[in-house]
Amino acid sequence: VLPVVAIVGRPNVGKSTLFNRIAGECIAIVEDKPGITRDRIYAQGEWTGKRFHLIDTGGLEFGGEDVFIDHVRHQVELAVDEADVIIFVVDGREGLMPSDEEVATWLHRADKPVVLAVNKADNRRLREDMYEFYSLGFDEVIPISALHGTGTGDLLDAVVSRF
Ligand code: GDP
Ligand code: MG
Repeated sequence: VLPVVAIVGRPNVGKSTLFNRIAGECIAIVEDKPGITRDRIYAQGEWTGKRFHLIDTGGLEFGGEDVFIDHVRHQVELAVDEADVIIFVVDGREGLMPSDEEVATWLHRADKPVVLAVNKADNRRLREDMYEFYSLGFDEVIPISALHGTGTGDLLDAVVSRF
């Protein structure tokens, strides 16, 4: 049975972009069929010889803050049940948001390994903005740009070290 890595976070932080980036870098097989499971997408990947299943928990996303937070919580619960390691994605350009803190609280309760990916850190100035996210209480905070592919190798190293 392969370890499961789940990508969680509020809408628009770049979960699906990261999912596709990891899938691209890890010789992944996307197992999902479009239109069947709209709110979770699975792939299989390999990094430094370690294979794993990857889940993008994003999927269905709504407009309003109070609606989406229920939805995100449901996705986090599903992912956390199945996951061996969680990639918690936040948006480094927008900065720390109250809903990030809410997700962090649920993840701390779950007591599973979490690697915090500060996404959209596209340049050096933005990479330096990652420090505020240490307040979420996770030891591993890694600035990445899912769009450009920077930092994702370090992220994957951190993830597979927790299997
Ligand atoms: P999700 O809702 O969390 O799955 O987020 P998406 O992957 O759909 O991305 C939301 C938006 O953020 C899209 O417009 C992406 O192109 C953009 N985005 C994702 N990753 C990055 C990044 O590393 N840098 C920048 N500048 N934009 C990004
Ligand atoms: Mg998405």
